[in-house]
Amino acid sequence: MSYECISCGRTFDPHERFYTCPECDSLLKIELDLERVKEEIDFEALEREPPTNWKYRPFLPIFDDSKIVTLGEGGTPLYSCDRLAEEIGVGELYVKHEGANPTGSFKDRGMTVGVTKAREFGVNTVACASTGNTSASLAAYAAKVGLKCVVLLPEGKVALGKLSQAIMHGAQVIGIEGNFDRALELVRRLCSERNDIYLLNSVNPFRPQGQKTIGFEVADQLDFDSPDRIIVPMGNCANIWAIYKGFFEFRETDIVDSIPKMTGTQAEGAMPVVDAIKQDLEEFEPEESPETIATAIRIGNPVNGPKALKAIRESKGTAEGVSDEEIVQAQRMLARLEGIGAEPASASSIAGLKKLVDQGVVAEDERVVCVTTGHILKDPQEVIDVSEPLVKVPAEYGEIVKQLGD
Ligand SMILES: *Cc1c(COP(=O)(O)O)cnc(C)c1O
Ligand SMILES: [Zn+2]
Repeated sequence: MSYECISCGRTFDPHERFYTCPECDSLLKIELDLERVKEEIDFEALEREPPTNWKYRPFLPIFDDSKIVTLGEGGTPLYSCDRLAEEIGVGELYVKHEGANPTGSFKDRGMTVGVTKAREFGVNTVACASTGNTSASLAAYAAKVGLKCVVLLPEGKVALGKLSQAIMHGAQVIGIEGNFDRALELVRRLCSERNDIYLLNSVNPFRPQGQKTIGFEVADQLDFDSPDRIIVPMGNCANIWAIYKGFFEFRETDIVDSIPKMTGTQAEGAMPVVDAIKQDLEEFEPEESPETIATAIRIGNPVNGPKALKAIRESKGTAEGVSDEEIVQAQRMLARLEGIGAEPASASSIAGLKKLVDQGVVAEDERVVCVTTGHILKDPQEVIDVSEPLVKVPAEYGEIVKQLGD
């Protein structure tokens, strides 16, 4: 196993603590010796046992199993969504509902690995900047093993569900008068100057190593077949890369034959990566003032943008931007046709699918998986804000019957 720089290609010792390339400051990825991994896989158990994050242990970059921190993440449902498929006009549609993780988002898959690494590195404090879910997850995993947790949040901008979690799990929560991108700059500086604090933002190369299990589980739940396409909401863009990496490693170890077309969605007010794909640009142009109802993807300068561009281009996928209105409409369709409650950012994958089908980019006979990244209860205020006001009537039987209107 080693760190490998995605720009200069140099490799580094994974026992040392790096966040970006010590030579050129680009993003790092973790590369495993896949021949060795393959020897460690128990293929019979792989077929027999139900999916969970740690089922795929040989693929996870941990040296010391006694340091593993887990809350039972992964093993989320892959729903077959016939009613939604018919409404949208696509052949076969599945939703991988990551809202079913312990703290209600896919971030848990990254944190089980990330906080385990923090223990291997021997630090006593972990830190992140967050639009909400990262802090909720980090706070919970840190609590489980008694690590101190510091989180920087854009003050007044974090959904209530997420904020409550970080507070109740005992993190030191610092609200800054600035947006997420600024919070990230500050926490990166903090962790480069303070050796006792381990940075668990999405620039951390180990977190995507946990998140790649979304790809493993999707393949596993489809009887070790790959879907044609997988649609993923993009904020800082680590997740789409991670899922790509999962399929890539499964293909290299002969567990699946192909990699799905990685398709990313962003909100129109914050879609630098979508623009770069559509205009075929080498690099993306950061958005100075990102705005969207989907707070988990309200990110103007995605740190892992270069990785997302690679994942999308190498898998011959695409990217699409969706309006807040389309996001809310998709959130409703998911909830009302399939019984799946997702937060707005998550629903962008469904909104993006609908748009791509309407444009003829996604063929009618495709087998598509949409990832819903977080649970509806993360942001209940958004639901109230976009819904009709509640009806209030006198507490009389006749009034209730009148309300039914039939
Ligand atoms: C973190 C998050 C995202 C964005 O994931 P990235 O890896 O930053 O692209 C999307 N949706 C939800 C609910 C999230 O918590
Ligand atoms: Zn480099």
